[in-house]
Amino acid sequence: MTVPTIQLNDGHQIPQLGFGVFKVDPGEAERIVSDALEAGYRHIDTAAIYGNEEGVGRAIASSGIPREELFITTKLWNGDQGTESAHRAIDTSLAKLGLDYVDLYLIHWPTPERDLYVESWRALEAIRDAGKSRSIGVSNFLVPHLTRLLAETDTVPAVNQIELHPTFQQRELRTWGAEHGTAIEAWGPLGQGKYDLFGMGPIQAAAEAHGVSPAQVVIRWHLQSGIIVFPKSNSAERIRSNFDVFGFELSADEMAAIDALDAGNRVGSHPDDVN
Ligand code: NAD
Repeated sequence: MTVPTIQLNDGHQIPQLGFGVFKVDPGEAERIVSDALEAGYRHIDTAAIYGNEEGVGRAIASSGIPREELFITTKLWNGDQGTESAHRAIDTSLAKLGLDYVDLYLIHWPTPERDLYVESWRALEAIRDAGKSRSIGVSNFLVPHLTRLLAETDTVPAVNQIELHPTFQQRELRTWGAEHGTAIEAWGPLGQGKYDLFGMGPIQAAAEAHGVSPAQVVIRWHLQSGIIVFPKSNSAERIRSNFDVFGFELSADEMAAIDALDAGNRVGSHPDDVN
């Protein structure tokens, strides 16, 4: 099964479907990521704060998959923002992952009260130039934070990773991304299980029409919307079925019905409140 890729604004390709490991227990990360690699995922989204980079690294090492076939993302944690601490943080992450480079390094949150995200972004530019990350991007950045990066630095983020699911569709940030060449990654793509997404009418109707699960419909909606997505699960069966989304296509009407579910329903933290 070939996962489509999206070309980032720096020319690198990112697999549009990956596997996220937020809340994957460090002790189980190696097994769970091995299950994902076995199922065919080649894009893994982790973060220093998840505490499971070592397990992710062990799964990568034992898989035998050539490094160039993998796309690995990790993130700079809030307390490590700043020039020297960002350089230390990427070295620590690479050591834990057992890698010479990551494919994508993100500033995890803007943490506006710290007012260090512009300085940190310059550190990420240097980290990219040193070959420690192929691409660099941000996460949870709002338009004012993005506008400042554009005004004060030389690099447009390759991605912005944001909370995004059918009842929280982030049209303003998606429009900004389309206008500036910043690809959008969805976190919490299944709503983190925090509301009855899978019971919603248009999602159930599409699942019945195509003989697939509601989760597969939602993942397909992300993919057909041009969004990069990495659902998380601890269960080998769900890991496999979340990847099995290339044998059907949602119609324009089905896409429009899911688009109409947008309700401003943020289930995670507001980026201005995380400091
Ligand atoms: P998600 O929307 O992927 O939801 C995960 C939940 O959905 C789990 O509870 C899982 O049991 C359930 N689930 C998964 N597959 C299912 C299926 N087929 N049927 C029914 N239930 C299913 O939420 P997430 O893990 O928070 O987001 C995905 C990834 O995004 C994370 O793992 C992480 O890599 C990233 N993330 C980033 C940030 C950030 O601030 N940048 C924040 C949260 C998550």
